This record gives sequence, structure tokens and C-alpha cells, in this order.
Amino acid sequence: MTGRYPTKRPIDAAVAGSDTEFDPPAELLSMPWIDIHNHAHTLSWGDREKFALSGCEQMVMMAAAYYWLPYKPVAADDVRFLWDDALNRLAQIRQSHLFDAKLGIGIHTGTRVKDVSELLDLMPDYCALDEVAAVGEIGITASQHVDGWRLAEQKEMMRRQFEIARDANLPAIVHTPADLDGVDIPDRVRGGLPGYELDLSMQQDPVLTGENVKLQATELDIALKDEAGLPDDQMVISHGDQQIAPTVLETTDCYLSFTVSYPWLLGVTAEDVAAVIKEYGSERVLIETDSAGILRGDVFSFKRTLFELYRHGLSEETIKQVAYDNPKSLLS
Ligand SMILES: [Zn+2]
Repeated sequence: MTGRYPTKRPIDAAVAGSDTEFDPPAELLSMPWIDIHNHAHTLSWGDREKFALSGCEQMVMMAAAYYWLPYKPVAADDVRFLWDDALNRLAQIRQSHLFDAKLGIGIHTGTRVKDVSELLDLMPDYCALDEVAAVGEIGITASQHVDGWRLAEQKEMMRRQFEIARDANLPAIVHTPADLDGVDIPDRVRGGLPGYELDLSMQQDPVLTGENVKLQATELDIALKDEAGLPDDQMVISHGDQQIAPTVLETTDCYLSFTVSYPWLLGVTAEDVAAVIKEYGSERVLIETDSAGILRGDVFSFKRTLFELYRHGLSEETIKQVAYDNPKSLLS
């Protein structure tokens, strides 16, 4: 290597030799990807353009979830407003940005919803729309905002929504609680500079306690999916981490999706995703941004994760399977 460059000043490559050369395949630069879980309709126009510019080909925007910031008890009509608002804006979002966007319709258990049976009766009609690609986001939640929801009622709600997904032949996108035990998250401390626009003083007592709340919720969701008769390959466990990976990938045929746009909150990095793929394979792993206007996130994190997975030794075929092939078959 030394002597190859006509420079007087030594350059890195000449000094370090060829060991440090990083030569990613061109396919990685132009690889399309699919985000099966976000709330991009709550972001700005510029954020949605970033999705298109960085290669997003398709996305599913969850029409009702934490971003709604419920500072009051929530009624069925409040949730329906969010579904309708997302539906109403979808055509223009699709026209302005060169990706295919569809919706997830669901009742999140992030806060108790009054008269929820009205929504459960309406959901099948929403799920029959061409614009709707998933039931979501749903999922057992450990502690609600503003108004608590007892575990027995949450379970019934989940079972009903899994049945609706089964009957509509749609995948279900299932939220799992953030595991914040022992995680130092300065941004969530009130009085600091929060990265999350959520009034934590309105958080209710948890309905799941003790060790490993995330895993407890995951196991409940899996059992309820079985009770409802929803096939495993129509269920996505979102906000995955290394702790729930063995349960999901060894004992079920469900998908496990990793949220990559806010590691400051969830503590999950591309290195963790790579480790799970190396141990359990890439057949049922997904990546999602879950980006939403409520918290500090990064649309480019999806594309960045693809590069980082390559740096962690995964082949471009494996990365494409996770970023594109798996979500494609989930949504087809
Ligand atoms: Zn979400």
C-alpha cells in the first residue's frame, strides 16, 4: 500500500494498510425497505419526504396509539376520529410522497376507552377497506395513561381484535411495553429535557408487575392470539428486544419487529438486532421505525440500521430479507 499515493502527506489508507477498508455492496445503497409500524401521518411533510428519499417503498401507519396524548378520559368517538382523520388524509399523503402507505386500525390499550364495544362493532367495516393493511397497533399494556384498564378487560379486548384480524385476513401489529427497569433514560426524567411529550404524572398504576413485564405481556398476547385462532404468521410482536426474542422466535412462528428510531428510550441498537438474527435466523425478523410526532425519533434510522447490520457482518441477502422480503410477504 505504501507508495501507491503520489502524496507527500501520508494518508490513512497508506498508514493503516488495507485492513480497514469498508466496501459495502451497491445493492445496500439502493435497497428498498418497508416500515410495517409507524405513525408517519403525525409527522411533518418533510419527515415523510425523508422516508421516500431514503428508500421506503411501503409503510403501515397506525391510526391510533400513544401519539394521541389523552389528557382526558377517552370515548369511542375520540378513537374513531383518529381513524377517520388518518383515512381522510391518506390519499394526499400517497400522492405527495412516492411510497405506498396504508393504515393500521385498532384500539390501543394505552388508556382505557369508554364504550369500547362500539368500536369493536365498527372495526370489521374499517378492516374491509382497501386502505387498511393491518389491525394495530394493539397489545397488552402494563400501565395506562389518565385512566387505568384492568387486565381482564384488556385481555377480552385483545381477543376480540385478534378475531377481527383473523376474519379480515389481516396481520395484527402488537405493541409490547417498554422495559425501563434498570435503564438509565435521562430524557424521560421530568425537569430535564424530555424526549417524550407525555405527562408522566398522569401515568396509572401498572396492571402487570414483578419481573420481566415485557415478557409477561408478550406471553399473554401470544396466548390470546391462539385463543382467537389468528395464525402465527399474521402476528407481529413490536418493540422487540433480546429478552423476548427466544420466546417469540423459538416457541412461535410470529414475527418479531425491532423499533430502531428511538434507542434512547428502548435501549435497542442495530448490534442487538444483528445478534438476534445471528442466533435465530432472519426468517421472522422485521425492522420498524414506530416514528411519531410525540417523541424524539429519526426517520433515517431505518436506512442507517441496514448499513449497520452490514457492518455487523450480515450479508446483503439477509438484510434485504429483514428490510423488504419479510414485510412484503406479511402484507401480501
Ligand atoms: Zn406505535
